[in-house]
Amino acid sequence: MVVRLLPFKFIKAKWENGFSFKKKQTEDMKCIFCKQPSDNSESVEHIIPEALGNTDHILEKGIVCDKCNNYFAIKIEKPLLQLPYFISSRHRNDIKSKKGRIPIEKGILLSPTPSIVNFHRDKEGKSISLEDEKLIDFIQGNNTFSIIIPVNERPPANNIYISKFLGKVGLEALAKIGEGIDGGLQEIVDKVELDAIRNYVRYGQGKYWEYHCRPLYNENKLFEDGKENEAYQVLHEYKILYTDNFQLLIVVAILGVEYCLDLGKPTTETYVSWLKTNNYLSPLYHNSSTRTKNE
Ligand SMILES: [Zn+2]
Repeated sequence: MVVRLLPFKFIKAKWENGFSFKKKQTEDMKCIFCKQPSDNSESVEHIIPEALGNTDHILEKGIVCDKCNNYFAIKIEKPLLQLPYFISSRHRNDIKSKKGRIPIEKGILLSPTPSIVNFHRDKEGKSISLEDEKLIDFIQGNNTFSIIIPVNERPPANNIYISKFLGKVGLEALAKIGEGIDGGLQEIVDKVELDAIRNYVRYGQGKYWEYHCRPLYNENKLFEDGKENEAYQVLHEYKILYTDNFQLLIVVAILGVEYCLDLGKPTTETYVSWLKTNNYLSPLYHNSSTRTKNE
């Protein structure tokens, strides 16, 4: 099955005109997911959750309606962030939640009786707490004890929350390009070729969409900023990949892991063949991508 997306007028307009024009699109706004009128919406939409360090990549009110915004927060992003891999990687990299807390990593103290140990990181530094307080005396009185800590260095390869999340990011990244162009958002709403991914992400319709996932760089790698001459860590970056055949894919890197989802069909074949013809380089580095730094 080949699903080809029709050429997007607004993407072409953007490429030809750069960022030089912006028209207001406040009349008759419709949500890019449910297509319902969204003029009265009150929340802005974070393309990447704030709990992954995003404060910059935001869509204006109404591009995603309040109902859809709330659905994504509760039904997709919350369970996504609770995956053991995201808890551990956020803990390892000091990434705070919206409320300013770094997630607690859990381990197991094996003896004298198996018990859960919590690892905390906060402004006072690192500390541990034990769920069984009786064991505090044991630990303080013993020089040796064993604690098992899970190693969650890789995200799961087939996970419904990651898959839906990528679809959500994809449509929103597209809206970020379209929001500055007259008719851009309307074109996204009207594009029937996007209905399959829209309905999958928002209503769970259709079969599971596969995503491509590979490590790109170490999660704590430091990049050099040529201008400011400072090192920084990349929390996440993303880019729309739009092929010569009008296939539309979203490529996202979070803490060094690259994910790709085809917004037109639920398989990874387009990306796999794109990688083959491009020496397995990441599209994120073909041109600049949209990055968030952790400095
Ligand atoms: Zn909506």
